[in-house]
Amino acid sequence: MRLQPEFASFEEFTLGLNSVSSVSNATARLSTMSETFAVELKSVVKRYSEILAVDNVDLTIKTGEIFGLLGPNGSGKSTTLKMLLGLVQPDSGSVNVLGVDVQKDPVAVKQQVGYVPESPRLYEFLTGIEYLDFIGDIYGMQTEEKKNRITEYLKALQLEGREGDMITGYSEGMKQKVALISAFLHRPKLLILDEPLNALDPRSARIVKDFLHKLKMQGVTTIMSTHVLEIAQAVCDRIGIMYQGRLLALGNMNELRQMSKLPDSGLEDIFLKLTGTDDIRAVVEELLK
Ligand code: ADP
Ligand code: MG
Repeated sequence: MRLQPEFASFEEFTLGLNSVSSVSNATARLSTMSETFAVELKSVVKRYSEILAVDNVDLTIKTGEIFGLLGPNGSGKSTTLKMLLGLVQPDSGSVNVLGVDVQKDPVAVKQQVGYVPESPRLYEFLTGIEYLDFIGDIYGMQTEEKKNRITEYLKALQLEGREGDMITGYSEGMKQKVALISAFLHRPKLLILDEPLNALDPRSARIVKDFLHKLKMQGVTTIMSTHVLEIAQAVCDRIGIMYQGRLLALGNMNELRQMSKLPDSGLEDIFLKLTGTDDIRAVVEELLK
């Protein structure tokens, strides 16, 4: 089968992961390194010409933490997440993931990470099951284990019965589910999920939320950008709010309430206040004129 050239981001992600030997070498390198934290960004800057996409971000995420990255469109969330994987190189600063300097050894990082990009591009002319099978092979999974996990996840996310259809015929939500399963499949130590819940129906979003919580109990770290604030508030141990490339606020719900001087509020009000978009009523009235 001829694979489509436009799937650059996925190919970039899997680059270097396409042989079992490179995967096991990477694992060997990782296991020799100590992990005191899952992720550490130090003074990270990324610029696209005049645009300062990420502006001097410092961030440490502990192993087993579920961390939510919030922020308006264009605030630098996706760029930050891509730098964790080595898909985007920082202009300055350092990015350390699972004890590894990402710039020095991106393959070692990718082997231990499950990633769902913002707009997952799947191989549309494979069936769901073919695609997941292929992903399992990339990670060097044993046939039986791979089959069992795929079956389990297809069932949990209600894709059973559609796995033999070509991905091109799937709805956006179904594609999102396949992308999530492909990130969970090899039981990574760290999940990097870029707006993973947007296309999901409430039941599937709830299943994913509960699943992330279960993984946390097993020591898995999750970093997730999302606009679904109820879920972020319910599932995240800490939340970082980005605005114009900077990490504007960082903390658990109570700390964010204190920072925003909104002691009784939920995440939505805090977010809107901190990102300066709490003048919603005025905007809506202006639009209705
Ligand atoms: P978010 O995920 O928070 O919506 P992004 O990280 O995608 O934000 O983008 C941050 C800023 O960087 C935006 O202004 C965006 O236009 C810019 N940007 C992101 N990727 C690129 C790119 N490949 N080339 C040029 N500008 C980019
Ligand atoms: Mg984004």
